[in-house]
Amino acid sequence: MVTSTIAEAAREVPIADRSDVVVVGGGPAGISAAVSAARNGASVTLLERYAYLGGLASGGMVLVLDDMHNDTEITVQGICMEMIERMRSWGLCVTPPDAERMPGVRETDAMWRKWSRWGLFDFHTQSMPHPVCFSAAFDPDGYKRASYVMTGEAGVKLRLHSWFSSAIVEDGRIKGVICETKEGRQAILGDVVIDTTGDLDVAAGAGAKFQESSFILTTVSRWGGIDTDRAEAFQFEQPETFAKLDHEAKRIIGGCWNYWWLKTPLPGIIWLNCPHMPKLSGLHVDGLTAAELEGRRRMEELMKFSRENFPGFENAYVVDFAPQTGVRQTRMLEGEYVVTKEDVMSRRHFSDTVCRGRDYYTPYRAMLPVQVDQLLVAGRHYSATPQAQKASREIPPCMAMGEAAGVAATVALNSGVTVREADVAKIQAQMRAQGADPGDVPSKNAAVLEAAE
Ligand SMILES: Cc1cc2nc3c(=O)[nH]c(=O)nc-3n(C[C@H](O)[C@H](O)[C@H](O)COP(=O)(O)OP(=O)(O)OC[C@H]3O[C@@H](n4cnc5c(N)ncnc54)[C@H](O)[C@@H]3O)c2cc1C
Repeated sequence: MVTSTIAEAAREVPIADRSDVVVVGGGPAGISAAVSAARNGASVTLLERYAYLGGLASGGMVLVLDDMHNDTEITVQGICMEMIERMRSWGLCVTPPDAERMPGVRETDAMWRKWSRWGLFDFHTQSMPHPVCFSAAFDPDGYKRASYVMTGEAGVKLRLHSWFSSAIVEDGRIKGVICETKEGRQAILGDVVIDTTGDLDVAAGAGAKFQESSFILTTVSRWGGIDTDRAEAFQFEQPETFAKLDHEAKRIIGGCWNYWWLKTPLPGIIWLNCPHMPKLSGLHVDGLTAAELEGRRRMEELMKFSRENFPGFENAYVVDFAPQTGVRQTRMLEGEYVVTKEDVMSRRHFSDTVCRGRDYYTPYRAMLPVQVDQLLVAGRHYSATPQAQKASREIPPCMAMGEAAGVAATVALNSGVTVREADVAKIQAQMRAQGADPGDVPSKNAAVLEAAE
């Protein structure tokens, strides 16, 4: 708790780099933004506070790419799909084949048994078993590896170990950022800055309006030594005994999704997307510290219980806890348009849609702060209400948003206009040209309310 303050002395900061586009935050949205802008001819610097790229997808060990389908239609393509293909070619990503996610097959007990412990099903449906859908289980180091290959091939200038600390803003226009590094503070200048920190660090620091919010925190972990075949056989062949044990495991966890462990592409290694810890802030040192300690305590108790009770878990051991705390929601931009839960759930289509998630559409205005020029925001902190974000924050839609931001930055630069004035039709056309789905053509189940805009 802050009780008093001291004054910091003013100082000169060296300019370490200049680029057309500066992307701050090397997570899913940031990687896509940087690759997309660089492929479109911009010089791009990508800044990341940690020692690796990938954000929650690698350091947070969030290991399923979902929310990328609308029934049988795949709605997130582009850079996200390229990432999937690369990881799959290395044996580090698993997706259900087309034939197994077709109507009539995808909702059968056989498919549920085959795919549910991969987490590759549509958890938005009420029906059980949930249908298998297009989604991808991947390895966290595979995600890092693909990120390095893709940013390297695109010619992105990468600066790891660079922690954003303040925005350089003149007359309401962002000119660059200042980072803390082992070499001291460094300034990185750019014509366009894209905030992909997930916590809106840059936009908030630049004076953009936002809403502070929070959702559950999680210390994700991986366990090894699991005989997943035996564990699954027990679940499906002795459902009543399994249900009693699973109930007790969930009591120990103290909050989790129904499937608290899922398989990964590495044999015998599972990931645990739990526990859920509400009422802790992902922005505050106290909350983040408490989450680390409490999450580990609960998971250690769960490990003991699992080894003693679940067939297949007798030789379980902890591989690792994610180095990055699982923070889902902190600051949300209040941009030119604030996406509502109703927009997401009713699949509202916008004429300025530039990317999409599951079956919903993201307007370009939701990436534009009102108060700051030349700044774009992409990722889980985009301009949406907290309730809307909970239903639209998965990795693939964040990657799609990043890809659109990278395109928008170059469309604006090439046309000599600000990002606020960028021609949306050009952004949509370029997204399509590079294999992404800008969502400009609404799917059959979209709500098209143009008259209301
Ligand atoms: C526990 C958990 C489970 C989830 N489960 C799923 C799931 O199963 N499937 C799914 O698709 N999604 C899931 N999600 C959601 C998903 O992981 C995130 O919404 C998504 O990763 C957001 O991507 P992003 O790029 O916007 O942000 P992030 O992944 O948070 O990346 C932000 C990046 O910015 C960097 N950064 C932050 N601040 C600074 C700074 N000041 N200076 C420099 N760099 C900075 C970070 O280090 C990070 O690399 C889950 C999230 C959590 C926490």
